[in-house]
Amino acid sequence: MSCLFVISAPSGAGKTSVVHGLLQTDVTVSLSISYTTRLPRENEVNGRDYVFVDQTLFREMLADGEFLESAEVYGNFYGTSRRWIEETMAAGQDVLLEIDCQGAQQVRQLYPQSTSIFILPPSLEILERRLRQRGLDENRIIERRLSAARDEVGHLNKFDYVVVNHKLDQAVQEVACIMRAERLKTMRQLISQRKLIAQFA
Ligand code: 5GP
Repeated sequence: MSCLFVISAPSGAGKTSVVHGLLQTDVTVSLSISYTTRLPRENEVNGRDYVFVDQTLFREMLADGEFLESAEVYGNFYGTSRRWIEETMAAGQDVLLEIDCQGAQQVRQLYPQSTSIFILPPSLEILERRLRQRGLDENRIIERRLSAARDEVGHLNKFDYVVVNHKLDQAVQEVACIMRAERLKTMRQLISQRKLIAQFA
C-alpha cells in the first residue's frame, strides 16, 4: 500500500529546497511534476520542474478530468496529473506532491489516508527577507505573497504535520522522519508484512 505525501508552504518558506533535500535522502519516493500555465523561470526545464502548457491546453485537460487537483495561484494555473499519480501508486511507489494549500485540501478529500506536511518559515521577517533576496518578484508581488502566507498559515491546522524550516538539513530530516513513521503505520504493515504476520496465525 503506497503512501501519498503532500507538502505545502507559503512561497519563500524553502519548500522546494526541502523537497530537493528529501529526494536525495529518500530515494524511494517519486515527485509528481505538475502542469502549469506559468512561464518558465530562468534555469527551469520543461518536464523536469514543471510541464509548461498554455491556458487553452490546461483548460482542455481540466475539462477532460486529467487533473487530480488543480488551483489558480497568483494568476497562473497549476494541476497534478491524475494518471501519473494513479499509475505510480498502482505500481507500489510512494508519491510526493509539492502543491499549494488549495490543492492540499482537494487531495485530502480524495485520499483521506494521505499525509500532509506544512513547512513553516521561522518568522514573518525571515520569510520577507527570503522573498526579497531571491529577487524573483517585484514589491507588489512580494506584498501579495506575504498576505497569502498569513492566509495559508491560518489553515495549517488542517495539515497532519508542521515542520519549521529554521535550518534546511534539520527540516529535511524531520520530513524524512515523518515519512518513515507513516510507512510503519499498522494499517500499512498489515499489508506489507502479511506473510510475516501470517506465520503467527
Ligand atoms: P511557483 O510558481 O512559485 O513554482 O509555485 C507557486 C505555487 O504553486 C507554490 O505554492 C507551489 O507549491 C504551487 N504548485 C505547484 N504545482 C502545483 C500543483 O500541481 N497544484 C497546486 N494546487 N499547486 C501547485
